[in-house]
Amino acid sequence: MNYYSEKMIAMAAVREASDLCRAVQHEMKGDSITKKDKSPVTIADFGSQALVCSRLRMAYPSDPIIAEENSTMLRLVENETERLGVVQRVRMLRPDATEQDVLDWIDFGGHKNQSSRFWTLDPIDGTKGFLRGDQYAIALALVVDAEVVVAALSCPNLTLSSAPEDKGVVAVAVKGQGTEIYRLVDMELIGKAEVSSQTNPAGIRFSESVESSHTSHSNSQKVADVLGISQHAIRLDSQAKYVVVAAGDAEIYLRMPSSRRYVENIWDHAGGMLIVQEAGGRVTDINGKDLVFKHGYQLIENRGIAVSNGSLHESVLNAVKQAKIVD
Ligand code: AMP
Ligand code: MG
Repeated sequence: MNYYSEKMIAMAAVREASDLCRAVQHEMKGDSITKKDKSPVTIADFGSQALVCSRLRMAYPSDPIIAEENSTMLRLVENETERLGVVQRVRMLRPDATEQDVLDWIDFGGHKNQSSRFWTLDPIDGTKGFLRGDQYAIALALVVDAEVVVAALSCPNLTLSSAPEDKGVVAVAVKGQGTEIYRLVDMELIGKAEVSSQTNPAGIRFSESVESSHTSHSNSQKVADVLGISQHAIRLDSQAKYVVVAAGDAEIYLRMPSSRRYVENIWDHAGGMLIVQEAGGRVTDINGKDLVFKHGYQLIENRGIAVSNGSLHESVLNAVKQAKIVD
């Protein structure tokens, strides 16, 4: 399988959703609804999910989609303003969409369980970054027989050093075929992504979440100290961190668990993982275990995330052990 049509559909889907997200971020005044788990969600999260899921459903009617959002909150009477906002935004790209269509499209993403072939979507990864006007990503991946085989990650606010003039990139990977970086504005190919070969501690750049509730900054600092890294961490929201490592603009991305209970969701890592691996890097959890996409929507066998340019991976895992992290 070369997954050519899946790659094309995935690229078109994240590109279209980026248009909606950019328009909303541009006009936004920090409006969000708070979900049951206390995390924020915006009309762009719902609009992006509706667009991507409807496109996937049209192209692959029998593929389940495991996506982050659902329409339950939007259907509530008290959220009418947000509901109408989502429908209005989606209609700018799909003029014939009814309110019912949009709510149904969002719920195409309501699968949770494993199947032999499925898509996973984070319609806005890094919603907190999106609300701050910073980095976020639209993250889509196809999983077949528990392996991530296609990934498309749009990062509308990201600039890479290989294309310093361009704000907004889409990283695309197919298993065994490498990672490509496109310019979001016109989907022109910038080039193949390749991880950095840097192994000298003085030159190592490491990346982590902005939010200290998503990663323990103090524990990753301990790991950085063991590795002898002198540069400050590059803090970015979303899977943009994976793209930065894939493109050689950082050597390491670490996600040190900030709580014992938290289990990572697949939509936060599936796409990013393939994009780094196909650019020559490595992705495991912080104990060195491969990420296991066998259990539906969660990475129940894994703890934390360690991403590197490959050559540094064993050193990173050893440093995690040596840092004697207590949690
Ligand atoms: P980031 O932008 O890298 O900080 O990651 C954003 C993602 O972190 C969101 O999509 C959430 O799914 C996820 N998240 C939420 N709570 C936690 C947590 N306690 N630990 C790790 N990740 C989390
Ligand atoms: Mg996310």
